Amino acid sequence: MTRVLILFGPPGAGKGTQASRLSAALALPHVSTGDLFRENRAKGTPLGKKAQTFMDAGQLVPDDVVLDMLFDRTSKSDCREGYLLDGFPRTIPQAEALSKRLAATDRVSVLNLIVPDDVLLERITGRRSCKACSNVHHVRTAPPKAPGRCDKCGGELVQRTDDTTEVFGKRLSVYRQQTQPLEGWYGRAGNLVNVDGNRAPDVVFEELRQKAFPEQRGGRV
Ligand code: AMP
Repeated sequence: MTRVLILFGPPGAGKGTQASRLSAALALPHVSTGDLFRENRAKGTPLGKKAQTFMDAGQLVPDDVVLDMLFDRTSKSDCREGYLLDGFPRTIPQAEALSKRLAATDRVSVLNLIVPDDVLLERITGRRSCKACSNVHHVRTAPPKAPGRCDKCGGELVQRTDDTTEVFGKRLSVYRQQTQPLEGWYGRAGNLVNVDGNRAPDVVFEELRQKAFPEQRGGRV
């Protein structure tokens, strides 16, 4: 049986931050499609170049590109027992493709982080990400000890090109149109749990950890 935990929610909801903590707590690899694209971009691979224009415009990378990359990652041996998805699925066809890959006995759990739009904007525009290890700081709420340097690895902190106010607006509208319908999709299957993401990270983490794989809920959808 494979356990698949999906962290769901708009940009800035805290998926990445919580996913890395949950990954350690549940001993499941953290698979972030956004991070995979950024790694490919940094290395200048054809995949990274293909994704770049979409990412910089706040648009979704086409499904076929995302699916090839994701399934390549989840077919690695460390994902055999399960994995934690951050930023995937983002469209109904992506969710359908994932569903087809899983066996009837596999478990899927979706945790939906709810955060008001004004808080999302504040989090996204203040976010500074480490170029080396993807660790995230925030200029106001989680400033680094040394200016411009990641607390974890000392790497350079930068603002992601898609973390500007303008691109955030586009990403949020893409989320509402193409991604949010998945709430209904997973909700109908009984796999979705809403969690208030507008609280201290430790409080949110504790609730997510407790609700990650509740018994007696839906399996594969
Ligand atoms: P994220 O780091 O999850 O905010 O993703 C950054 C960007 O990568 C998104 O705005 C999309 O352009 C692209 N991306 C990441 N995951 C997906 C996905 N599942 N489907 C389509 N595009 C994606």
